[in-house]
Amino acid sequence: MTAAIKDLNLKGKVAVVTGGGGVICSTMARALAAHGVKTAILDLNLEAAQKVAAEIKAESGVESLGFSANVLDRASLEAAKKDINQKLGKIDYLVNGAGGNAASATSKVEKMKDGDALEDTFFGLQLEGFDKTFDLNFKGTLLPTLVFAADMVENKFGGIVNISSMNSYRPLTRIPAYSASKAAINNFTQWLAVHFANTGIRVNAIAPGFLLTNQNRFLLVDEKTGASTPRGQKIMNGTPMERYGTPEELSGTLLYLLSDWAEFITGVVIPVDGGFSAYSGV
Ligand code: NAD
Repeated sequence: MTAAIKDLNLKGKVAVVTGGGGVICSTMARALAAHGVKTAILDLNLEAAQKVAAEIKAESGVESLGFSANVLDRASLEAAKKDINQKLGKIDYLVNGAGGNAASATSKVEKMKDGDALEDTFFGLQLEGFDKTFDLNFKGTLLPTLVFAADMVENKFGGIVNISSMNSYRPLTRIPAYSASKAAINNFTQWLAVHFANTGIRVNAIAPGFLLTNQNRFLLVDEKTGASTPRGQKIMNGTPMERYGTPEELSGTLLYLLSDWAEFITGVVIPVDGGFSAYSGV
């Protein structure tokens, strides 16, 4: 006799989604709400957070509220937590989605050649850009976890999903700070998964492949012609499915990782990438 498959068991839980006003995380929050999860949409941009929350509430009928917080400011996170606890209840899930790159830590050339102006190469990268990128991606995951996982420890139950990137496995050209900071996310995901292994809290990550969003559009599409840039074309060549992913295509993995279907899964980073990470290019 086959055992009946478990329920996802997401309904009625409370999730905090950082960067919830943005492209990927607003879509993730929508997917959570569609499965009955109450969502706290956290963003630096309160207006964006509240707009997403209002849309989610209207679409799903499930409670969703926007909160303003800076993932780099512990006091603002603590204040948001107090507010969330009062309005939505104790926190069960955390999606660490706020993240990004800094132009000043992006080199102009991919591979240095004789005659290149030094400022267009590795030597033109700004330390300030590294600080910003490492802070946002790494500390911006660490601090919300320190604040919001407190409820999970109390409840002896919780799910944390960090948002990594393809860059974390092998760095992409031009963006060393972003790549290294996302590699740090994978490492931290494993470390915390082990640390929390006996607390009821699971910690995993999703490494999205290439999606076309405001963060990378300037690198991938020619603003004037709308055609792929040479870099965009390389991505197509390196993606066996030969297309960009959509934010919606990350949702299944998020729901799965938070659900009871994944109750023996902790410390993994799942690529959702159309085969990019599996392909040697030949
Ligand atoms: P986005 O720029 O649309 O969203 C990011 C959101 O984070 C914005 O609403 C912004 O206001 C918010 N934010 C920025 N700094 C913040 C701070 N200090 N405190 C609180 N909120 C802050 O970006 P996105 O493309 O949706 O990316 C979301 C996540 O996915 C990021 O971690 C990104 O690195 C990762 N990612 C994106 C792609 C892609 O192709 N877009 C691929 C892989 C990984």
